[in-house]
Amino acid sequence: MCSLTTPSGRRWDGTPSTPWRLRSLRVAADSPSRLLRTAQPQRCRDCGHRIDWYTRAHGQPVGLHPQELDAAAVPVSCRWHVDSGIAHAAGDGTRWCRIPHPVLCPAHEPTEQLTPQLAELRRRLAVRTRRLLDTGALTPPPSDPPAAEVSVCRPARPVLQILYGRYLAAGPIDDIQCVAQTRRRHRCHYRVLAPDTPAGIWTLMPATAARGQLALPAADMAVYDLTHIPYAEQLRWRTQRCPAHAAAPQAADLALAEWEVFDPLLHHWHIHSRLPATSPGRRERP
Ligand SMILES: [Zn+2]
Ligand SMILES: [Zn+2]
Repeated sequence: MCSLTTPSGRRWDGTPSTPWRLRSLRVAADSPSRLLRTAQPQRCRDCGHRIDWYTRAHGQPVGLHPQELDAAAVPVSCRWHVDSGIAHAAGDGTRWCRIPHPVLCPAHEPTEQLTPQLAELRRRLAVRTRRLLDTGALTPPPSDPPAAEVSVCRPARPVLQILYGRYLAAGPIDDIQCVAQTRRRHRCHYRVLAPDTPAGIWTLMPATAARGQLALPAADMAVYDLTHIPYAEQLRWRTQRCPAHAAAPQAADLALAEWEVFDPLLHHWHIHSRLPATSPGRRERP
């Protein structure tokens, strides 16, 4: 009786039977982005429309409207293009371009003088936002809460001082989630605020941006200040990683860090003049 098995290394049809080796995706050491996938989709919290987040060449994220638009209908100052996964603040010479979501966001006043085509697109987005609100698919953004309430609640979107920059967080301090990818290829579920790591201090600071924007007549605002903790820890917060992933720089990111550079005019809803009474920051500057 002869065996039906073919000589080792070959299948019955002669194709090599080398076992399939899994190769994991890696992030190039010189890549300005640590994301394995660009165009991180998210919904705008204010209007409910999709935003595709991209990294810019210097590392800051930018949220673009998901569709390309006819460049002739877009003011030159609003034209963007995406090249190799990196967003650039200019057209690329073609008929088409991308546009930042805030230019179109119907929940805010337009930041630019809109062309008739963009005004019409913004109007259509506004109609859809109205429908999302009416059907309960979108929760309206919280209005400015009463001052008494602020003093006992944790801020929904706190302002943080990190590495001499001031940022608006996407959620409460103890909800800021690590953006790294785990070995099982899921987003890490650990939080950036970890036990046994130095915490920030809630403190009152002048309600100005950290980068020299105009001071507002309003006095002080509550800021979660991290500037007293070691540089590496501040970097960990800025890159939005848990302690384990801060120690594993080879791990890729599955999402962009969610900080927005704080602007006292744009983000005035999130300025609170009192310190949270009970906060995950645990300490207040005496
Ligand atoms: Zn929006
Ligand atoms: Zn992590």
